[in-house]
Amino acid sequence: MATNPKKTSKEPKPEQFDVLISGGGMVGLTLACGLAVSGFGVAVVDIATPDGLLDKDFDGRASAVAFASYKMLDALAISPFLKGLVQPIDEIRVTDSNVPLFLHFDKDELGDGPLGYMVENRHNRQALFKRLEQLPNIKLFAPDHLVAHQNNDDGGVTATLKSGKTISAKLLVGAEGRRSPLREGADIGLVTASYHQVGIVATIEHEHPHMGIAHERFLPDGPFAILPLTGNRSSLVWSVGSDIAPEILKLNRRALVAEIQKRVGGFLGEITVAGPVWNYPLSMQFAERYRDERMVLVGDAAHGIHPIAGQGLNLGYRDVAALLEVLNTAKLAGEDIGSEAVLEKYVQWRRFDNMTLIATMDGLTRLFSNNIKPLKYARAIGLEVVNHIPPLRKFFMHHARGTVGDLPKLLEGKSLPTELDT
Ligand SMILES: Cc1cc2nc3c(=O)[nH]c(=O)nc-3n(C[C@H](O)[C@H](O)[C@H](O)COP(=O)(O)OP(=O)(O)OC[C@H]3O[C@@H](n4cnc5c(N)ncnc54)[C@H](O)[C@@H]3O)c2cc1C
Repeated sequence: MATNPKKTSKEPKPEQFDVLISGGGMVGLTLACGLAVSGFGVAVVDIATPDGLLDKDFDGRASAVAFASYKMLDALAISPFLKGLVQPIDEIRVTDSNVPLFLHFDKDELGDGPLGYMVENRHNRQALFKRLEQLPNIKLFAPDHLVAHQNNDDGGVTATLKSGKTISAKLLVGAEGRRSPLREGADIGLVTASYHQVGIVATIEHEHPHMGIAHERFLPDGPFAILPLTGNRSSLVWSVGSDIAPEILKLNRRALVAEIQKRVGGFLGEITVAGPVWNYPLSMQFAERYRDERMVLVGDAAHGIHPIAGQGLNLGYRDVAALLEVLNTAKLAGEDIGSEAVLEKYVQWRRFDNMTLIATMDGLTRLFSNNIKPLKYARAIGLEVVNHIPPLRKFFMHHARGTVGDLPKLLEGKSLPTELDT
């Protein structure tokens, strides 16, 4: 990205904010809501139109939002706008190539709520936009995008948008997803690996209820997830080799339903595919640095993973919760929120946690996308071992719920302190 645009005396004064977020996806907008709740003035710039972002054809995915992540949506008063639209995940069943052995996680073993919630991405975005309307200290600039930015001598950053508007802030946040221009503009390298897989996503309607059970099946042609949505509906994520994906995507509806029914089996009764079928290339990536001068990365701009365990957005939520806590603490202490010392606290908190999970997920993806016989036996035994050792099973359940590690307060459902509390 070009920096240091020439200033002329005719240029209007930049609008002032505390934080400028580039990218108003689920991560960027959640961060904006949290910052506004903490009393910061926030500008969000998104390249897409708000109508486009909310259109039902923009994103057909549903996300497994971990129990802890959902607590943050409660604490930031976003979840009331999701009432009646989310499906609790009460059980998770993992099977390997239709082997009768399976790994079983049940919310009743923990006893304090579901393992997570299935939230359709379009509903999540709608809820965020409704919450935004209640928060006057957020201003959305969309459709628009940054064309240049520069660090000011007085310790801030000024950005010029495509529309010609200028914005000044103490901190710039890159939340533009996997192809973050702010990351690229700061020359932050990216470690990447392709799985040579495509994630085919569809919503199915079915005859029988799903009982709040999420299924992850490791089939010979790739992982196949059946994730419960409200009503008699489920979201499918079918990961297949990029060589065979085009063949599947070319199938007519009838043939596609037949292929899906073969993989789902009979337990949901007769199924139909509702709405469009989507596809996403699957890869892993992580940024070599999470910060630059007066700039940090969050969400997919910092890291992207395979959807095998439904953790990508949850990692982004963990970034948001940690950054909010760091910035809120700095504000209460009268510190400069864009300073190196403050931003480094965020980096230290998040980078190791993200890298550990990304490495684990990468290993699991490769292990479970492999049909070599000894590996198949090894993982079947692994599943069986985990299933029969309750403490080990609970350990995995806590991971799925996002309730492990050095948790930021918001992920425990606690509000951040305000000036009145100090
Ligand atoms: C098939 C599939 C299933 C998944 N399932 C799950 C799941 O169950 N659970 C889970 O936790 N995760 C899941 N994920 C991962 C999850 O979808 C992502 O991690 C999440 O969407 C990242 O959110 P984000 O806001 O960081 O980025 P994005 O969703 O990519 O949003 C980026 C935003 O930035 C905007 N933008 C782009 N370029 C610019 C620019 N130049 N200037 C300004 N704005 C810009 C875009 O318009 C968009 O609004 C899944 C992913 C896939 C592919």
